Amino acid sequence: MENLSWIPGSVGAAPVQNIGAYGTEACCVITAVECYVPAEHRMMRLSAEACCFGYRDSIFKRELQGRVVITAVEFALSLKPLFHVRYGELSREVEQLGGMSLEHIRQAVIAIRKHKLPDPKQLGNTGSFFKNPVVSRAVADALTERFPDMPRYEVSNEEVKLAAGWLIDQSGWRGRREGKVGVHESQALVLVNYGGATGAEVMALAHRIQEAVATQFGVQIEMEVNLR
Ligand SMILES: Cc1cc2nc3c(=O)[nH]c(=O)nc-3n(C[C@H](O)[C@H](O)[C@H](O)COP(=O)(O)OP(=O)(O)OC[C@H]3O[C@@H](n4cnc5c(N)ncnc54)[C@H](O)[C@@H]3O)c2cc1C
Repeated sequence: MENLSWIPGSVGAAPVQNIGAYGTEACCVITAVECYVPAEHRMMRLSAEACCFGYRDSIFKRELQGRVVITAVEFALSLKPLFHVRYGELSREVEQLGGMSLEHIRQAVIAIRKHKLPDPKQLGNTGSFFKNPVVSRAVADALTERFPDMPRYEVSNEEVKLAAGWLIDQSGWRGRREGKVGVHESQALVLVNYGGATGAEVMALAHRIQEAVATQFGVQIEMEVNLR
C-alpha cells in the first residue's frame, strides 16, 4: 500500500481502475468491495476475485460501469512487511533515507512523485493518461534490438510490459505544447491543461501521441483514463 502513496482520489475510486504505482496495485491488498445497486435498491458484496481486477482495470470499468456506488473497500494488510522496490529509482531513494522500511518507502514514493508529477491544484493535468503497453516477447525482443536502451519489464514467459512514458518521450512528445494543451516536461505520460483547454483538445492531443508512437515503434498505447 505504501507504494500507492500520493495517488490523488477517494477510497471508493481506488478499485475502479485498480490504481497502481511502483510495481504494486490496489488489488494486492483489496479482499472485498461493497456496493449499493441503485436499480435494485440493494447492497452487494464482491470478493476480490469477482472484481476481475486487471492492469488499471476491473469489473467497475466494464459490466458494472455506472451501475453501482462503491460504499466500502475491505483491505487486508500483511503483518510482516513486504517490500516492493524493484524500480531502481525507488530503491536508491529508500537507501538515501536510511534503508528499507515501510515508512521510508512511503516517504521515497512521495518525494519522487512530488518531484516528477505536477500538482493538479497548481497545473491542471490528467495524471498518467496512457497505460504501459503489454506486448509479446517477440515484439519486445525486436524492439530491444533496434532500441537497446528501451526499458522493459517481464510479465510472463510470453509477455513483456513496455514503458509508455519512454515510448512517448522517444517519439519527441515530452514537454511539447500545442496551444492550451501539452505533454508535461518531466513526465511524458501526463497531459497538461495550461488553462481553458477543452476535453476535445486534450483528446486530439492524445490521438496525435498515439499515432506518433504507433508510427515510430509499431506499438499501440491505450488510454488509462475512463472515457464517457
Ligand atoms: C497527478 C495525478 C497522478 C495520478 N497518479 C496515478 C497513479 O500513479 N496510478 C493510478 O492508478 N492512477 C493515478 N491517477 C489517477 C487517479 O488518481 C485515480 O484514477 C483515482 O482513483 C481517481 O480518484 P477520484 O476519487 O478522483 O475518482 P474520479 O476520477 O472522480 O472517478 C474515477 C472513476 O471511478 C468512478 N467512481 C469514483 N468513485 C466511485 C464510487 N464510490 N463508486 C463507483 N464508482 C466510482 C467514477 O465514476 C469514474 O468513472 C493520477 C491522477 C492525477 C491527477
